[in-house]
Amino acid sequence: MAPQIMVSVEGLKKNFLRGKKTIRVLKGVDFQVHAGEMVAVVGPSGAGKSTLLHILGTLDQPSEGRLLIDGQDIFRSLPHHLASFRNRTIGFVFQFHHLLPEFNALQNTMMPVLIQRAPRAKAEKMAVEMLEQVGLSNRLDHRPVELSGGEQQRVALARALVMRPKLLLADEPTGNLDDNTARGVHQLLFNMNQKYGMTTIVVTHNLHLAHSMNRCFSLQDGLILDEGIDAKGKEAE
Ligand code: ADP
Ligand code: MG
Repeated sequence: MAPQIMVSVEGLKKNFLRGKKTIRVLKGVDFQVHAGEMVAVVGPSGAGKSTLLHILGTLDQPSEGRLLIDGQDIFRSLPHHLASFRNRTIGFVFQFHHLLPEFNALQNTMMPVLIQRAPRAKAEKMAVEMLEQVGLSNRLDHRPVELSGGEQQRVALARALVMRPKLLLADEPTGNLDDNTARGVHQLLFNMNQKYGMTTIVVTHNLHLAHSMNRCFSLQDGLILDEGIDAKGKEAE
């Protein structure tokens, strides 16, 4: 059986209007990502990586083209259910953790479950389990300022995964961390992918991480230049 396609992007274009000027950021992007696959997106600053990830995350609409996630034509068939679909299906990790400063690690991680109106006890159980998975059982009651950078990103990862999303999107998740700490978070991304099998798309400048993934897309000037079909085993020359 052919592997299931989790994300399919067809002819995706994104323009931003600034005054009278149109900025063409994505100029016709096409690719597919299979269920369970780990894909890196690399490319110079300003190439459109975050813009692409926002659209994949249904946080922004394309100017043209189609996005299918798990077989659903997102912007055509789901406009009224996007928020709920997003909360159930997609987890996000950003460069800066965006944890709520007033809440501790446990409360931050519970938030997506509470938003789905699950009972508090259930939310707490799911959050405790996920924080255990990221190695933070002993930090449940720490607020973000009481955590190291790496720990903050691990809480952000726990929060992104607590709903067991089918798709994890990460935008330079370790761009703000030192090399050693970044390596720990990268390892955790691989471990969580092994354990939960979610499709993972990571924007990164870290070439070691990029080349450890199943494929590496190179985005340049609004186009995908290389889908890294045989990236594995092909060392950079
Ligand atoms: P990357 O993440 O690859 O560094 P971005 O996707 O953030 O790049 O941005 C790509 C280009 O789009 C940049 O030139 C940026 O200035 C422009 N851009 C991004 N968001 C907007 C916006 N909301 N309005 C206008 N221009 C934008
Ligand atoms: Mg960016």
